[in-house]
Parts: sequence; structure tokens; C-alpha cells
Amino acid sequence: MFKKAKRELDRLMLGNQNFVNGTPTEKNMSVETLQKFAFHQAPDAMVLSCSDSRAVPEIIFDCGIGELFVIRVGGIAAGPNVVESIEYGVKKLKLPLLILLGHDDCGVMHYACDAYPNKPEHFESIMNCVCPVFDKYAPIKDNNDFSRKHTFWVEQMLLERSKIIRAAVENKELYIAKCHLDHLTGKVEILDKI
Ligand SMILES: [Zn+2]
Repeated sequence: MFKKAKRELDRLMLGNQNFVNGTPTEKNMSVETLQKFAFHQAPDAMVLSCSDSRAVPEIIFDCGIGELFVIRVGGIAAGPNVVESIEYGVKKLKLPLLILLGHDDCGVMHYACDAYPNKPEHFESIMNCVCPVFDKYAPIKDNNDFSRKHTFWVEQMLLERSKIIRAAVENKELYIAKCHLDHLTGKVEILDKI
């Protein structure tokens, strides 16, 4: 049950440990590696990460070219393009693992928190995805608490908005791991509960 996904998650967490320890492995970052994958890709896992310049999945999980199918968007907001990109990873690439990677000091979370309880003025589609967290998971302690709770909300959104993702999870073909990146340590934490 979720065997492949758990194995992959363990591997990526070991990769994160390498990053934290400052002992990254020699990665496949060369043009030769890209050429090997010139006409196909065979990644091992999906990561939904923030566009934030500090939350870089390949680096923090110690991975090279061709290993991760990455979707990046401000605040890991689960809008239609994001949902469909994940569906592609499930249906076409048959990926067993999706990591939802929230992070500390997220600008999107700051923006939403600063405006609350008013409706934020800009970034409407992203805010529509993010702001329900205020009601769903109150009380919110701080910005990083908001980010962590939002990661749980994103999982709910994906399951509600996509039949493909929901079916894959129900059939144990896809495991969704909720994770959070701590900027001060570089460590990725697996979130078990809100
Ligand atoms: Zn962010």
C-alpha cells in the first residue's frame, strides 16, 4: 500500500538530509543527462512548490535533471492550471508521490495575513485559493502556521477539484505528502496533523 510512494519519499528525505548536512551527492546536472532524456522523461515524484526563490525542490531534495516533475506557483495555490499539471503527472507519468511543499516566510501568506480580515486587493485567483484557510483552520498563530495549515487545505482542494487525483488517492496509486521547508535549517518536515 503506497509502497512505491513511501520508498520515494524516504529517498527524497535522505536527499534533504544530504542538503542539510552540506553533503550533496554528485547529481545528474549535465547536458549529457539532458540529452539522455531528450525525447522522454521518467521522473520519480511530483513536487508542488512555491515560486519563492528559496524553495527549490531539486536543490533541497538533492536531485538532478529528470528526477522530479515540479509545479511551481505562488503560495502553492491550487488553481486550474496547477490541478491539471498534477493530473498529467498522475495519468501520463504514473507518478506515485506528490509532495506539497509549503515554506517559511511565504510572501503569499504574508500578503493574505496582512490584509485579513479584509479581502486582499491583488492576486485574486491566488488569494481565492489561500484565504479560506482563515475560516477553515482558525485560529492562525502566525505566518508560518498559516502556511502549514494552507498545505492541508491545498490537499483538500486537489481532492475536491480533481476526479483524477481523488481516484488515484482512493486506489492507492498516489500518495500526497504534506511538507514544510524551514529556511533556517534547510530541513523539510513531513506534516502529520494540523
Ligand atoms: Zn511562498
